[in-house]
Amino acid sequence: GSVFSSVVQAPEDPILGVTVAYNKDPSPVKVNLGVGAYRTEEGKPLVLNVVRRAEQLLVNDLSRVKEYLPITGLADFNKLSAKLIFGSDSPAIQENRVATVQCLSGTGSLRVGGEFLARHYHERTIYIPQPTWGNHTKVFTLAGLSVKTYRYYDPATRGLDFEGLLADLSVAPPGAIVLLHACAHNPTGVDPTLDQYEQIRLLMRSKGLLPFFDSAYQGFASGNLDADAQSVRLFVADGGECLTAQSYAKNMGLYGERVGALSIVCKSADVTVRVESQLKLVIRPMYSNPPIHGASIVATILKDREMYEEWTIELKAMADRIINMRQLLFEALRTRGTPGDWGHIIKQIGMFTFTGLNREQVAFMTKEYHIYMTSDGRISMAGLRSQTVPHLADAIHAAVT
Ligand code: PLP
Repeated sequence: GSVFSSVVQAPEDPILGVTVAYNKDPSPVKVNLGVGAYRTEEGKPLVLNVVRRAEQLLVNDLSRVKEYLPITGLADFNKLSAKLIFGSDSPAIQENRVATVQCLSGTGSLRVGGEFLARHYHERTIYIPQPTWGNHTKVFTLAGLSVKTYRYYDPATRGLDFEGLLADLSVAPPGAIVLLHACAHNPTGVDPTLDQYEQIRLLMRSKGLLPFFDSAYQGFASGNLDADAQSVRLFVADGGECLTAQSYAKNMGLYGERVGALSIVCKSADVTVRVESQLKLVIRPMYSNPPIHGASIVATILKDREMYEEWTIELKAMADRIINMRQLLFEALRTRGTPGDWGHIIKQIGMFTFTGLNREQVAFMTKEYHIYMTSDGRISMAGLRSQTVPHLADAIHAAVT
């Protein structure tokens, strides 16, 4: 027998498992609203034109070699990534108070940040919103942190439970780490307003809570890169410390290239140098150094004014298509007279709508309508097309009546 014969079958990942089930379904009307990846109006994956152009430039540049990057990644990429999230005029950058390392997309950035905190930060508890992206708990637990939740979403209003959030953070141990979604909260699509963020900031700074921003959707929420970074910039502007995990998966469509960055904003330049030296010790035994291709694409685009402009236009077009799908779905339900208030479909922000449909209703829609989504009722608006909206609206209508 195998030395591994006692290994038990592991369950599918709750999010990626939706696509596994979808692929097995032979129905011609099936729709996959589980994946967090952008699709065109034709239902196809999209490679941005500006990304294709950058790749051409890279391929044609014969001076480029395949040597290892430093442990911290591509220097240009790191500088430009920090500017993108903190703003090009950020005092923290000018004062050399930001340590940025290129990591394996958003997930890898969160993991490296988590491992660093578990080794070097005095309070090992991290508070994550309830609910949150399913991978957060596992990433931070395996990094060696103790994960607790704070109230975030109110099912009654399908909006923010702001009172609950403030109450939970105000009883967190001093110094606790708090994970915040920079914008377009996944899975709820519910973000605090800037005024609410300001109150969160005052509370967190007064208790010495350490913000860890997960920025997986910059520019994808509103179509504007600066607007979607406001929450992060509010916290950096007060001179305090924070961590930020950036992903280029969605906003540049670089999903499988695994491009991201972890930035740690510190109080002084000398602390920053030491923090960066310790980040290298986290990374070196984990994967040695990051891959070169995706980061080179990003650096090529961010460094060239004209390519940067083209990116912002393509990014806005993706955001606008998603917002348009929200409107179409909302109207389709109104036309059908579907019971309930569906205003949250147009109010929620980003790639996902947290429909409020329960586990049984989701199972019904999958069985009867071949619509695939996570069991918490989250649908990816980016997977929807004008053509499939009526089918989805029929399914929702049937599920709730
Ligand atoms: N954080 C959030 C909130 C996400 O939604 C995602 C992707 O779905 C990620 C992080 C990480 O994505 P990636 O590792 O592909 O950049």
